[in-house]
Amino acid sequence: MKLRARLLAAFAIVLTVAAGVALLVTPIPLRDRLLAFGIVIVVGLVVAFAVAEMLARPLGDLSETASRVAKGDPVWRLGEALRVTHVDMRKMLSVVLETALVAVEGKAGAVFLLSARRSELYVKVGRHLAPQIAEQRIPLGRGLAGWAAEHRQAVLIPSADAPVPEDPEPSEATALAVPLESQSQLLGVLVIYGRTNNVPFGNEDLETITSLARQAGVGIENVLLHQEAQRLSITDGMTGIWNYRYFQMQMAQHFAAAVRFEHRLSLLVIDIDRFKDVNDRYGHQRGDTTLIELARRIVMHTRLNIDTLARYGGEEFVLILPETGLQGARIVAEKIREEVAATPFGEGDDEPIGVSVSIGYASYPEHGLTQQALVDAADKAMYEAKARGRNRVVGAEELGF
Ligand code: GH3
Ligand code: MG
Ligand code: MG
Repeated sequence: MKLRARLLAAFAIVLTVAAGVALLVTPIPLRDRLLAFGIVIVVGLVVAFAVAEMLARPLGDLSETASRVAKGDPVWRLGEALRVTHVDMRKMLSVVLETALVAVEGKAGAVFLLSARRSELYVKVGRHLAPQIAEQRIPLGRGLAGWAAEHRQAVLIPSADAPVPEDPEPSEATALAVPLESQSQLLGVLVIYGRTNNVPFGNEDLETITSLARQAGVGIENVLLHQEAQRLSITDGMTGIWNYRYFQMQMAQHFAAAVRFEHRLSLLVIDIDRFKDVNDRYGHQRGDTTLIELARRIVMHTRLNIDTLARYGGEEFVLILPETGLQGARIVAEKIREEVAATPFGEGDDEPIGVSVSIGYASYPEHGLTQQALVDAADKAMYEAKARGRNRVVGAEELGF
């Protein structure tokens, strides 16, 4: 009980007793004196304890929290940790695994996640495991981790009919495996192999790990949601390439680097010719698949992780070419133009559609000394290509930039 509450209660009791004693010596009939004394004592004590209880309660909650911290309650600590690591999957799972190992004095452990095809597990984070386990995929059903994932059931070893760890898992006589789930979807498995003091795990340990796994499931779900939101905010949903927003971010970065280090930088603006006709003749859906195929074809002419291809608007694309001057830009643009015009679009039973593109390009520093000037120059060059009859490439230098 809180000290202030105790003092108040003691004070109230002393007052009550004093009032009682005063009543006892008051000159009224003895029966009335005893009755009044009894009432004062009972009411006084009840009030004293009620006040003390009220004052003590908030401290009760706080002291519970404090004792959880002091005892290092793993589930509570994990909840706190997950609040700050929600955007980094590896970090978040490391916290989960570390907490689990400490909580049950585990020797080694791993957080396995389900592969994209949902048929295998792979180690996302591990502790004290042989290095080869990180390189291998474990099919659902195999070993301890695979069994827990396939049956979506927690496993305690030793226990009757329990599966055993299989290579590449460490062969320990005691282990725990708990599926990681979110909204009843399997995400992976948390496994602890062996105990530092070699005392076999029991049901209490399994409960601890199950509680941790529940928290971890929520944590994983949050990271995945965050990643998806991130991806959606910078990619174009239809073609899968970068969107205008990401283009702006990348362009700003590349432009700043080009200015600072005096590097070359080129930009292509690519627009489909008479695309309205494609929609009108073949329908909007065919128009969409044409855009998707065009994006795929342009990507084939870009340097992986160096160039940035983005959807600029409806049927317009932009391609950032770092470390590329105007001759290089013209070569890339010509290749793309040729490739598009050479092979009609369409797959399977689709009637092939002849498509062409008009491309304008501009280079830093020749055609613009600011980011906007460079974009404008490439855009004007593209319109010039349209004006000159389409299916062609025009450089900003041809417009007197
Ligand atoms: P040009 O560029 O050669 O002058 O002719 P165009 O017909 O391509 O001209 P414009 O740029 O004016 O028209 C673009 C058309 O692209 C209009 C619109 O119907 C179509 N379009 C834009 N975005 C999409 C899309 O996401 N899907 C489909 N199917 N069509 C789109
Ligand atoms: Mg067009
Ligand atoms: Mg257009």
